[in-house]
Parts: sequence; C-alpha cells; structure tokens
Amino acid sequence: MDTNVSEFMKIVESRNGNEPEFLQAVFEVAESIIPYSEKHTKYKLNKVLERMAEPERVIIFRVPWLNDKGVVQINRGFRVQMNSAIGPYKGGLRFHPSVNLSVLKFLAFEQSLKNSLTGLPMGGGKGGSDFDPKGKSDNEVMKFCQSFMTELYRHVGPDLDIPAGDIGVGAREIGFMFGQYKRITGEFTGVLTGKGNEWGGSLIRPEATGYGVVYFVEAMLKLKGDSLVGKKVVISGSGNVAQYTVEKCIEKGAKVLTMSDSEGYIFDPEGIDSGKLEYIMELKNTLRGRIKEYAVKYGCEYHAGKKPWGVKCDVAFPNATQNELDQNDARILVANGCICVAEGANMPSTPEAIHVFEEARILYAPGKAANAGGVAVSGLEMSQNSLRYSWSRDKIDSKLKLIIEQIHQACALYGREDNEYVNYVKGANIAGFVKIADAMLAQGLV
Ligand code: NDP
Repeated sequence: MDTNVSEFMKIVESRNGNEPEFLQAVFEVAESIIPYSEKHTKYKLNKVLERMAEPERVIIFRVPWLNDKGVVQINRGFRVQMNSAIGPYKGGLRFHPSVNLSVLKFLAFEQSLKNSLTGLPMGGGKGGSDFDPKGKSDNEVMKFCQSFMTELYRHVGPDLDIPAGDIGVGAREIGFMFGQYKRITGEFTGVLTGKGNEWGGSLIRPEATGYGVVYFVEAMLKLKGDSLVGKKVVISGSGNVAQYTVEKCIEKGAKVLTMSDSEGYIFDPEGIDSGKLEYIMELKNTLRGRIKEYAVKYGCEYHAGKKPWGVKCDVAFPNATQNELDQNDARILVANGCICVAEGANMPSTPEAIHVFEEARILYAPGKAANAGGVAVSGLEMSQNSLRYSWSRDKIDSKLKLIIEQIHQACALYGREDNEYVNYVKGANIAGFVKIADAMLAQGLV
C-alpha cells in the first residue's frame, strides 16, 4: 500500500476503528485521491480529504412505536449529514435490521461523491433505521414512519436536507413520512423525493437508478464498439433497482437470466421477459412475497441461500446490497467470460473483488458512478418542486440519459490509464472529489 495512503488511513482508523464499512469506503477513495493530492498540493495542504471523511453532523435518535398487538417497540433512527459544500444534504433513508452508524457513514460518504458526479447542486447525506419493514402490517409501517419523522422533521427541509428512499423505503414509506412532515410543519414542500406523481413526485424516479445503470453500461460498451444486444445478463436483487435494470435490459435486447433476494436466486435460462417481470413487480411490490415463488410459477431453478455469480454471463449487475460479491465470485465471473460489471447497489463488490476486475481489465463501473441516476432524478424532482411544475416522461428520461453520459465522460477523462483501459474507480473518485474539494476551499475552513 502507498505509504501516504496508509498514514492517512491510520488517522481515519483511530477515529472510526469499529466502523468497517465506512473504513472500506474511505480506503477505496483514498487510494485514488491521495496520489492525486500529492500532485495537486492545495488539496493536501488544506487536508480536504481528511475533512471530507468527517461528517459535518450525525443525528441519532430513539424511535418508539406500538405494534398491532399493542406492544411497545424501540428502534434507533439516524441521519448522517456528510457534506454540504455543493448543496443541501441529499441521500436516501434505509430501513433494514443491518443498519448502523458504519453502514450509514459509508453510504453518506459515497453519496457525497456520487451527487457531485451528477453535476447537480446536491451535498451528501444518508439515514435510516434498524427497523425491518418485512413482515409488518401497513399500519405498523405507518406508525413507525410517523414516529421516525416526528424527530427527523427538525433536521430536514427543502433547502437543508432532502431524504429519499433506499433499501426498505419505497413509495409507501415515503408517503407516510411525507404525511407526518406536512402534519407537523403545516407545509406542503419538497422535503422528500420519491413522492407519488399526484403529490409532487417526478416521473421516472422509480425507474431512474435501474435505467441509469443500464445507460452507463451502454456508454462503456459503446466506447469498445459493442452494445447490449444479445448479451447474457446476471442480476442480483429483486427490489427497485433490480426491477428497472431488468426492464431496461429487456428493452435493449439483452437476455436476463437471474434475479435474487436475501434467501436465494432464480435462474431462468429462457430469460425474464416483460410478462415475467410484471409478475415479479406484483410479487415484490404488492404481495411482498419471495423470489422463490417465481421458480414455482415458471418452472425454473431456484438456489436457496446462494448468489447468482456462478451463472455464465457477459454482464453482471450486483443490485442488492454491500459486499455481496467477493473475490471468489469475481474470479468465477471473469473465468466464465464476463466482460462488464456495473454496480446498481452501493459498494456491492469487496475491495478484493474489485482488484480481480482491475487485473482482468474488464469493464467495471463502481456504484457511485453507475447508480447515480436515482439521485439525479431526485435532483430533477427538487427542481420541479421549486418550479411548481412537472416535466414530461420523455424530457426527464432524456435528461437522465444525458447526466449518465456526462458522468461516464468525466470518469473516462480522469480514469483513462492508456488507450485501451479506463479505470472507472479512479475516474469516478477524482471527478467527484474535485468539485467538492474546490467548493470547500472556496468556502474557507468551515
Ligand atoms: P429494495 O429494498 O427495493 O431491494 C433490495 C433488494 O436487495 C431486495 O431484493 C432484497 O432482498 C435484497 N437484499 C437486501 N439486503 C440483502 C442482503 N443483506 N443480502 C442479500 N440480498 C439483500 O432496495 P433498492 O433496490 O432500492 O436498493 C438496492 C441497492 O441499490 C442498495 O445498495 C441501495 O443502496 C442501492 N441504490 C438504490 C437507489 C434507489 O434509487 N433505490 C439509488 C442508488 C443506489 P429481500 O427482499 O429478501 O430483503
């Protein structure tokens, strides 16, 4: 390891020693930024990366609520306000039992760079709770969301901090939280994104992350004179990001072979078509069922407790959660001829897996670049809320496509290592960093 990177990491570790996901995310960025700061010394002298690795503010709070049996439940709520150099804090809320400060700090750190890459004026934040919506009634989810917002409302606002959805937080949860915010403040305002279309939401927001990651892959393949037509695709997850990745892949002529959830994956050698995807959406979004039911309905393979990375493919989309693809998985993908990995999820590949992709010099798009479409359209939702106006589906989709292509260009600019190879990790990290760093320098030591 570069000695400057290890010196830097020693300091970060001494302050955050029990936060492995956060340290992993900072290390991955430091590997690109420290060598860059050695050459651009204003960043080094002013300790910009050190400042970026310290959240501006962290809020932790109690969330008490009553379940349907009348029994008191206690969860923990968080909001990490990471960086506001280029705009108000912006980033999703995650409701999942695995949520803790380390996970949210890693997500908020990544979010700051991602938001910068979009070119829109958004700072970085992330929040959530260890609450598990799975198996809860709508009434219980509503009670939890109302209690959560009863504390969170004083820390957020349309010009201060604008949360959105993430794992476990979809249209239902955003609706309940928006309702409670409006009730407490008496204001109908754009405090959350991912709202329903009838009450301030943006068209294409549900689709944006999944569509965006496919647009990013198209841009990478195009640079190589290739396309998605006829490509075999393996996808993990079956939530929001996975569903719309499948939709766009089908539209682009690729064949999607797998989807998964936390219990296992389905392998459909015939390919998931639009009709089957419609079933998955109903199964996951309305019935809140398990992916194994797909295998029963369509008579295909289901692998309990397994991940889909052993299925032979051209393109892989890890679209479920962090650290879901390890070194061994990466080796299998490469050995099976995979030419491209694009992360719909945040930090799904372990550092060792990333090194396998880099050594094999396959196309590898890190989440902060590839999955920025969601927050980009959230930014467009904020613009529409400020304008009190709604843009058409086509207009938003073409803006989304343009933003993703610009992110791809920025990555290629900073990440090109020779004529043949673009290091998208380095490109995304430096392109995201420079804009925030310059704003921080301009604003003084705050
Ligand atoms: P959803 O809650 O809609 O779906 C999450 C999917 O991942 C589900 O299939 C879930 O399975 C699976 N999953 C969750 N945790 C685990 C786990 N520990 N192991 C295996 N599978 C798991 O979330 P999203 O689709 O919104 O988010 C997916 C990823 O994309 C996350 O990393 C998120 O941060 C990232 N992302 C999301 C954006 C968005 O706009 N929604 C924007 C940018 C990034 P199960 O149902 O069994 O829990």
